[in-house]
Amino acid sequence: MTAWDRIERLLGKEALDYLHKRTVGVVGLGSGGGFVAESLAMSGVGRFVLIDDELLESVNVVRHVGDLRDVGRPKVEAVADLIRARNPDAEVTAIRGRIEQHFDALNGIDLVVVGVDGERVKYLINEACLARGLTAVYAGVYERGEGGDVVVINPRDEASPCYACWADDVREGLVDPGADELDYGMIGPDGTLEAEPGLWLHVVRVASVQADLALNELLQGTDQYRRMPGNTVILANRPLEIFQGRITPPYGAEWITIARDPACLECSHRNRLQEAEAGEDELSLDQLLSDSGIHYEEAEAQDGES
Ligand SMILES: [Zn+2]
Repeated sequence: MTAWDRIERLLGKEALDYLHKRTVGVVGLGSGGGFVAESLAMSGVGRFVLIDDELLESVNVVRHVGDLRDVGRPKVEAVADLIRARNPDAEVTAIRGRIEQHFDALNGIDLVVVGVDGERVKYLINEACLARGLTAVYAGVYERGEGGDVVVINPRDEASPCYACWADDVREGLVDPGADELDYGMIGPDGTLEAEPGLWLHVVRVASVQADLALNELLQGTDQYRRMPGNTVILANRPLEIFQGRITPPYGAEWITIARDPACLECSHRNRLQEAEAGEDELSLDQLLSDSGIHYEEAEAQDGES
């Protein structure tokens, strides 16, 4: 009898053995990211690359998998220890730093879980994942934890949006992509985040879905993989008007599929960009635009309309 017997009964030996060898990168080890990392370890994922630059503070302990014993320690180390406490055989690489300085850490991994709050950082992670053909699972928690959303972005799927086209559609009017922190809360008069984060249990409801969808993606190629009803799920913790004129009740969820925006400058030429990165010719933005027949003014006008 091993610790994994019950998981093996659920998933089967083949899928569990497969998960033990899969590597997930978790960027941002706050309330959501820390929960996702530990949950994936408890579901059989065996290899982790954790990236975060913050120390756990005493204000964090009511909204984090780490507790008072971890105050003053880097969040990556606290979460790495929690993973090892669940699975001593797990291979964990803990990187204390900002993702912008550590994109190399994403080379060769199987999936990225995005646990950061800032939209600007999410756009940078999006670029890094597109360049590597890496699937990423993003989550956002709404103000005061009233709900949240989770999206799976798969650059290998031609119909899949990238995070930039997705956010342009879903966050329309809600988020300024240039702003640093805008997932929940508002920017106060002094220019800093006026955080009104949700309770741990409301954040974790969203993070639990993020973990489950990440696990499902990691199971691609096994008989345990489930086809989902869309690429995006929006969760209500309180009554939430997700679709105009219709209130989704507490604990309800709605699936939607956001299509790729053919005019998106981040992803519409990703394959060619990858080719360019791999070798010979550097393609200029102008060249890409003229090759595609998209004129810059048109792209801007479409942006303005949406
Ligand atoms: Zn895009």
